[in-house]
Amino acid sequence: MNALDTVNRYIIEAATTLKLDDGLMSFLLTPDRQLRVEIPIIRDNGKLQVFIGYRIQHNDSRGPFKGGLRYHPEVTDSEVSALASLMTWKTAIVDIPFGGAKGGIQVDTKTLSLLELERLTRRFTDVIDPIIGPNIDIPAPDVATNEQTMAWIMDQYSRRHGYTPAIVTGKPISLGGSEGRGAATGLGVAFATREACQSFGIDLKGARVVIQGFGKVGTHTAISLRDMGAKIIGISDVSGGVVNTRGIDLAEALRLQAATGSIHGLQDGQSVSNAELLATECDVLIPAALEDVFTEQNADTIKTKLIVEGANAPTTFEADHIFQQRGIHIVPDILANAGGVTVSYFEWVQNLQQFRWELSEVNQRLERRMVQGYHAIKAKAEEHRTTLRRGAFLLALDRVAEATRLRGF
Ligand code: NAD
Repeated sequence: MNALDTVNRYIIEAATTLKLDDGLMSFLLTPDRQLRVEIPIIRDNGKLQVFIGYRIQHNDSRGPFKGGLRYHPEVTDSEVSALASLMTWKTAIVDIPFGGAKGGIQVDTKTLSLLELERLTRRFTDVIDPIIGPNIDIPAPDVATNEQTMAWIMDQYSRRHGYTPAIVTGKPISLGGSEGRGAATGLGVAFATREACQSFGIDLKGARVVIQGFGKVGTHTAISLRDMGAKIIGISDVSGGVVNTRGIDLAEALRLQAATGSIHGLQDGQSVSNAELLATECDVLIPAALEDVFTEQNADTIKTKLIVEGANAPTTFEADHIFQQRGIHIVPDILANAGGVTVSYFEWVQNLQQFRWELSEVNQRLERRMVQGYHAIKAKAEEHRTTLRRGAFLLALDRVAEATRLRGF
């Protein structure tokens, strides 16, 4: 079962529990619009190369489509559809006025120069231009895209439409980005972890935390949880990982990462593969890399009390079942990593008002949304005697279905 099958399975389960009629369920399963584009660019060597990109808009019943843009060689329409759908449920859970979308380009960014990446991004912006807009669809960063990517999109879009900072979120602060956006997803993961630890009787002070993925989400999750008193005993990136039961020196890892783009060669504990990292005994395990990390092949090897899904769709349907049987709690992606889109919403609001909030205000509002979201899915889960993930889907479907019904067809 791939990520799309998995998310669709949860939608069908929740729709059945909520007794939604078949037509509405079908509407909630099907993306509103799927765009596949070719993106031709001239490489630095003068040759033409064509890349394939997607923008998939899942649902906009509660507000404009919203979701990240991923650059990865294995991006597919199925993966982007799954991620777009997750965005619809995520924005509903933290109760922000957006729907769900996702985009991606099949590209290994390491094989392109900065100028080629800029050309690729600007051309992609042009080809998706007809279906995006600050009140229609607002992209943001995801895997291997960043503030610079958003700056190029904002500039390219603004050339046609006039100065439009609200066309993307996750921009540099000097171009209308929000204070706190860079750290928001990781800080949100940390808030979700804190609330879940309280629920499940895990003392966050000194709790042993392992994090897979040391990118935008993983680094800020690590820093925030360390600042809350947890002990980060394992980290990894695509090159492999390091485990140190006395606690990783994060400052050193961040220095190495800034200097080389990777934690490869970090001399702070035992070097491990990603598979070994995931099987490390810990109190909290946080996937913050890619999807389908936990499968029926490795779910029995995981030795943790709590999984907090920093990444999107890291747990297959089968693995989720095994974790449930084994009594391992999971804070699902659609709540755990919703901090990013929450502060994206704050950025959009600030852009529309041409007004800046201070970091303390952003973080306080983020904390409130994450805490409310966590307790809302927990209450739903308790009401239906089910897992946090199923509680989250029930809450989200209920909200989206209500908006859909009220708007009509
Ligand atoms: P990123 O590109 O900044 O970082 C990704 C990290 O994962 C890197 O450290 C990379 O080396 C590592 N990685 C890649 N492939 C790997 C592999 N096969 N094994 C182990 N590690 C691997 O991306 P990000 O923005 O931090 O996103 C990470 C996850 O969080 C994705 O699932 C993304 O959809 C999700 N997410 C991101 C945001 C956001 O605001 N950036 C918001 C919500 C969810």
